[in-house]
Amino acid sequence: MRFSGFRVVKEALTGHKGWTPLWRTPDPKPAYDIVIVGGGGHGLATAFYLAKTFGRLNVAVLEKGWLGSGNIGRNTTIIRSNYLLPGNEPFYEFSMKLWENLEQDTNFNSMVSQRGIINLIHSDAQRDAYRRRGNAMHLAGAGGTLLSRDQLRDMVPFLNFDNARFPIKGGLLQPRAGTARHDGVAWGYARGADMRGVDIIQNCEVTGFRIESGKLCGVETSRGYIGARKVGVAVAGSSGRVMAMAGMRLPIESHVLQAFVSEGLKPTVPGVITFGAGHFYVSQSDKGGLVFGGDIDGYNSYAQRGNLPVVEDVLEGGMALMPMIGRARLLRAWGGVMDMSMDGSPIIDKTHVDGLFFNGGWCYGGFKATPASGFAFAHLLATGRPHETATAYRLDRFSRGHVIDEKGAGAQPNLH
Ligand SMILES: Cc1cc2nc3c(=O)[nH]c(=O)nc-3n(C[C@H](O)[C@H](O)[C@H](O)COP(=O)(O)OP(=O)(O)OC[C@H]3O[C@@H](n4cnc5c(N)ncnc54)[C@H](O)[C@@H]3O)c2cc1C
Repeated sequence: MRFSGFRVVKEALTGHKGWTPLWRTPDPKPAYDIVIVGGGGHGLATAFYLAKTFGRLNVAVLEKGWLGSGNIGRNTTIIRSNYLLPGNEPFYEFSMKLWENLEQDTNFNSMVSQRGIINLIHSDAQRDAYRRRGNAMHLAGAGGTLLSRDQLRDMVPFLNFDNARFPIKGGLLQPRAGTARHDGVAWGYARGADMRGVDIIQNCEVTGFRIESGKLCGVETSRGYIGARKVGVAVAGSSGRVMAMAGMRLPIESHVLQAFVSEGLKPTVPGVITFGAGHFYVSQSDKGGLVFGGDIDGYNSYAQRGNLPVVEDVLEGGMALMPMIGRARLLRAWGGVMDMSMDGSPIIDKTHVDGLFFNGGWCYGGFKATPASGFAFAHLLATGRPHETATAYRLDRFSRGHVIDEKGAGAQPNLH
């Protein structure tokens, strides 16, 4: 079934009896050409592009829970391509271009909203750094504008411009950035992949890999053995645990990141705003809730919930930036498990096992990467070669010294 305005009107007039489920619930086949482990955003996008762009139809996605149960349904929905380094910026700009056509590509309303992102500047040195970043963005075609304090005051007058410690001196605006409805992205990719013949199998946990003479033959699962010529793993916060079953120790740690949403308020925050002095970012959902977050909890964990000191830290950041947030009531808070790499950048690569591929290390920035990550992983799985925008995301870059340390924080996953 294709979605269209005509279809909505027709269903409205005929009692909404014609809608069908967004995807099938198939039983696993004995074998597939390609098995994707993990039905999060990246796994589903990979399956979608494998089917749509690379013509691979004998594909399955195996998800241990339900679609959207992981980080794809837990993030703060920010999409942007305002990166600095050559290994990153073209990849994230490729992702932004895929976002711009996502709803046409998947025929699904994922509520992609290019409402802009402003990174606030609080010192002269920070202005220099953002000017440099803006230039890198222009070189990659991502756009970007430096805003003066007066221009910012017109756009976001509710910010605390004269904070004694962190006065706001300007901002870097990327107008094409914004937000997208996170679970709508998962559903759109799932439906698009299913429509093209991909089997999406929920409640199917991969419990082991069958490897013979260094070659992958298939996966052991909670629903039995499934053969596969190739397997792509995209399990985000579970990367370490899953790849350990193939004998690998990854340059990745798992950490918790929390997010928060307030009660619904009248439209106030025009786009995404990031505090340049502390770690705090905020946007407003279409329902009116202020959606915000900050730092990871800073200790290794697989729990999908965080602790109170970070709640306090995030809210202090919010109060310093926009004191009016103290009047809003907090509705919900939750956590997700982040796959924090040692340099803060991702990995999309083959492994030492013939036929086994890995996608992970997204830290807390992998939502915006979902389309490009899926496309690049599908490219690698289908052709055996990395996509041109993802050539730097190699697994061996840590031993070669070719790290992509966007933040300049060193090998400290808790600081990326
Ligand atoms: C609170 C929070 C806020 C964030 N905010 C942003 C943001 O604003 N912008 C941004 O760009 N990024 C953000 N992120 C990061 C982003 O959400 C992640 O980097 C990205 O979603 C990870 O990729 P994924 O969608 O594939 O992960 P997931 O949705 O976690 O998918 C992985 C899937 O693998 C499954 N799985 C695990 N083990 C197995 C197994 N053995 N067998 C089968 N399946 C398995 C899991 O159940 C899960 O569904 C945020 C994350 C969090 C938690």
